Amino acid sequence: MTAQRPFITDVFARPLRNLRLSVTDRCNLRCQYCMPEEEYAWLPRGDLLTFEEIATLVDLFTDLGVEKVRLTGGEPLLRRDLPTLVRMLGRNLVEQATALYDAGLHRVTVSLDTLQPERFRELTRRDMHPRVLAGIEAVRRVGFTGLKLDTVVMRGVNDDELVDLIEYGKQVGAEVRFIEYMDVGGATSWTIDKVFSRAAMLERLSQHYGPIESVVTESWAPAERFRLPDGTVFGIIASTTAPFCRTCDRSRLTADGLWYLCLYARQGIDLRQPLRAGVAREELASIIVSGWQTRQDRGAEERKALETHGTRSPLIPLERLRKDPHLEMHTRGG
Ligand code: SF4
Repeated sequence: MTAQRPFITDVFARPLRNLRLSVTDRCNLRCQYCMPEEEYAWLPRGDLLTFEEIATLVDLFTDLGVEKVRLTGGEPLLRRDLPTLVRMLGRNLVEQATALYDAGLHRVTVSLDTLQPERFRELTRRDMHPRVLAGIEAVRRVGFTGLKLDTVVMRGVNDDELVDLIEYGKQVGAEVRFIEYMDVGGATSWTIDKVFSRAAMLERLSQHYGPIESVVTESWAPAERFRLPDGTVFGIIASTTAPFCRTCDRSRLTADGLWYLCLYARQGIDLRQPLRAGVAREELASIIVSGWQTRQDRGAEERKALETHGTRSPLIPLERLRKDPHLEMHTRGG
């Protein structure tokens, strides 16, 4: 699909290669680091892209060089008839067919921040821990080989579970990825001292397991990968203390068709409006191409620079977040 052509690149030569596609802004959990409020302003239903509209845009993006499409949310499983969408997208990504399962999905990532039911309840304000574990078990039974477990590590909240989570990952055949707590969107109670850094994670894990070695991996991926002495591989996404903007090939499409070129971007490019106005495919393509070619975003690096001046605090005040759902990480597929 893309092998014959050079990628479309941005101002810093980063390719248009990776699309995170949010299929809903809704979520049934209320995790402290993402959706700490009980009530949110939701995207108007009529604005949500239909499956056909999503498929049209994904087809366009893949034509322009995007190789990886990741479905996300909110909680993507809350979008009704999700398997139908996966099947439609699977047809568009047919070149990767050997790696796809029947419906077209080949990798699943599940968020799992704790193995302790009581802590799960405190962290998410929902009593759904058994369902999450049952879901992981079901994914494993179906035979997905690329199961990943994503854990946002917060100091004083779940930093004592790194070893337990690695051991659980071994049991269910999943690769665990530890993510530093980020100051994006709804992280309204973010402070730097709640960030459990990559260095602290490595130290904690090596105290338990012994020497940890770095695994050389595809340089565009956000997770650095490491190997324990017993061969177990895990990842760390150090977006806060070691941002990787310079290799960032990711953009995000919200469920209502706004295209964001960075997780921290204040503005998105509206693709829904021209799509619904029936503009020609070439015209839509040129909106995407020129958007990407002028991209200069380095959101996480710029946020990190604020630390030097001691001015780093939550990105957006709660009052502003309440007025615009697009500013929320759960809307733009964190
Ligand atoms: Fe990419 Fe923006 Fe994240 Fe940097 S902050 S890695 S540019 S999405």
